[in-house]
Amino acid sequence: MEIKIGKSARNCIACGKEFAHDEELWSLVRIEDQVFKREDYCMGCWSEDVARGAFSRWACCFYDPKVAEQEPPEVFSPLRQTFYEAVERQARCELAKAYLAAQLLRRQKVFRLIKESEGPDGDARFVLYADRIGGNLVEVRDPNLSYAELENGRQELLARLQELESPEEEREPAVEGESAPEDDGNQGSAQERAEA
Ligand SMILES: [Zn+2]
Repeated sequence: MEIKIGKSARNCIACGKEFAHDEELWSLVRIEDQVFKREDYCMGCWSEDVARGAFSRWACCFYDPKVAEQEPPEVFSPLRQTFYEAVERQARCELAKAYLAAQLLRRQKVFRLIKESEGPDGDARFVLYADRIGGNLVEVRDPNLSYAELENGRQELLARLQELESPEEEREPAVEGESAPEDDGNQGSAQERAEA
């Protein structure tokens, strides 16, 4: 299923008030025409009535990247980066990687499980997570991945993590003494993360 609005809105959908960084709010998703639609409410406008008929609901904190940038950056997470790379793609091996990475991120409390559901034909399961960093809503698809596919995904996930964590060490020593500075990789990723 498609997620039409993944990020939290900047304003309360009911009263229009702008959310402040770290402000507590309520979010819900509805399914309309096979599409997830997200709605965000300030505490004042939230009630059980507005949540009626929603597919799922959860409390969260508004994340304003502009404010967050001025705070000490969160530790760069190769796991999170790997997840977002994989979940964008369609290949089953990529879905396996995303599926496993999401479970690890959930264990790290970076991702929060919102809801699990079956596809209409029973040929896939869907897991909806909220990413604590940035408040994104992400959907992970499990097209009945086999054990072998998950095992293969696990190995690829580990390989990718190793690559991200030690970009130069694994290679043969460079003949011409090319040495990439070690500190340049993380800034770009932190930037991406803020945008994600
Ligand atoms: Zn409101």
